[in-house]
Amino acid sequence: RARNAHEPEFLQAVQEVAETVIPYIASQEIYNGKNILLRMVEPERAIQFRVPWVDDKGEIHVNRGYRIQMNSAIGPYKGGLRFHPTVTMSVLKFLAFEQVFKNSLTTLPMGGGKGGSDFDPKGKSDDEIMRFCHSFMSELFRHIGPNTDVPAGDIGVGGREIGFLFGMYRKMRNEFTGVLTGKGLSWGGSKIRPEATGYGTVYFAQNMLDTKGESFDGKTVVISGSGNVAQYAAEKATQLGAKVVTLSDSSGFIYDKDGIDADKLAFVMELKNVKRGRIHEYCDKYPSAEFHKGKTPWGIKCDIALPCATQNELNGDDAKTLMDNGCMCVSEGANMPSTPEAMHAFQKAKILFAPGKASNAGGVATSGLEMTQNSLRFNWTRAEVDEKLTQIMADIHASCVEYGTEDDGSVDYVKGANIAGFVKVADAMLAQGVV
Ligand code: NDP
Repeated sequence: RARNAHEPEFLQAVQEVAETVIPYIASQEIYNGKNILLRMVEPERAIQFRVPWVDDKGEIHVNRGYRIQMNSAIGPYKGGLRFHPTVTMSVLKFLAFEQVFKNSLTTLPMGGGKGGSDFDPKGKSDDEIMRFCHSFMSELFRHIGPNTDVPAGDIGVGGREIGFLFGMYRKMRNEFTGVLTGKGLSWGGSKIRPEATGYGTVYFAQNMLDTKGESFDGKTVVISGSGNVAQYAAEKATQLGAKVVTLSDSSGFIYDKDGIDADKLAFVMELKNVKRGRIHEYCDKYPSAEFHKGKTPWGIKCDIALPCATQNELNGDDAKTLMDNGCMCVSEGANMPSTPEAMHAFQKAKILFAPGKASNAGGVATSGLEMTQNSLRFNWTRAEVDEKLTQIMADIHASCVEYGTEDDGSVDYVKGANIAGFVKVADAMLAQGVV
């Protein structure tokens, strides 16, 4: 703790895992005296580098680039790149640590990593984004590779950025390999990858609801964020018969009491992905909707909540409000969106609560499927990938139930996900010795 005192997000993520994993380690003789968790919290490698780039006016800027290679005991490092002004070593170490457990849960052979930059893509032209991505990759390329480390997208890094990054990697290495995931379909991408995190979050919630004889049909759903994860979570929840009533961005949330149906969601996708506009513009198009400036959507009455924006966006008071309003299920699409107070409140009330490392693992799982398709030089159909994704989410749910079922029959998904994710990585580390 003292060694990482200046890294609050990282400490929060480790604390959350330690609360459930330390008692488990104590109960299992094979892990005793091996200092496994101590070894897991130290990145195998943390790289920081300069990213200089030139804007459209000719002015030179310098951002900071990072790649955290956290753990490769069960496969090459794998995890997204985040471009956002709030990116720090602490944020990326928390994300990389979570990624190790998440990737283990997917059942696929992927280690954990994360990277990015404090670069802010908002308001930048396509050319500026391209120059930044090219500069970023002109350093990152020497640290990654299809059998070493395979980055993907995250906040601020979507298909456009992956394209620019891939182009520079291919030029520097003079080879065409599956070194990044989230690629375009004509150059090695997987079908369903853009949808996978949002769909997976809903599939996971569906698995939880099944255990109570419930479903999405007829339910009211509150979603935060309006980016990649939020959009496809909204799409799948709507397809399953639910009414999605909110979306948000960092300036506030929109509330549409009539529901954001397929046509309205198509407008949101065009607004956010093509025009790169703000969510309040939804209300210009659909005046019956309300924009709540500077607020999060957790005060809106709902049955199911899907936080899909960013870390620590849902606090203890929000958790109480949600549950007072009858919310029975929370499935995290974002990474660590619930604060520790919120998480503990959900656990105590024993509502259905899925931590991101389980419920949002569909994205990286499908990235794993993209890596397999790249190695095979083969493409699966949309139906094939969706079927595999559905099965993986059901398997993750089963692992959480296996390790998280309490004496009273309820399931603590936080505990289940942490222990199930830990076991596979810890066993691999034990087998490989102290390296
Ligand atoms: P996008 O960049 O596509 O969208 C991010 C959304 O969250 C935007 O609506 C953004 O609003 C909002 N947001 C970002 N920062 C803040 C903030 N500080 N406060 C309020 N809102 C904020 O990212 P993704 O949808 O890909 O990622 C969302 C979450 O899901 C992240 O936690 C990410 O780590 C996680 N995740 C993503 C995966 C993926 O496959 N993409 C996989 C697994 C997890 P604004 O435009 O105003 O910034």
